[in-house]
Amino acid sequence: MKSSTSRKRYHVVCRECRVEGLFDVADDAADLERDHAAETGHRVAVGRVD
Ligand SMILES: [Zn+2]
Repeated sequence: MKSSTSRKRYHVVCRECRVEGLFDVADDAADLERDHAAETGHRVAVGRVD
């Protein structure tokens, strides 16, 4: 049987500078994405990591 805790993580990475982060919570990832884009106008990508 598999472990009951299959956790996903969210990897946020800016395409235009070195900002990046790894989050357990989707909302936290979305916050970084939104805040960084708002502050800098950069394009930020969010990917899910199993
Ligand atoms: Zn950036």
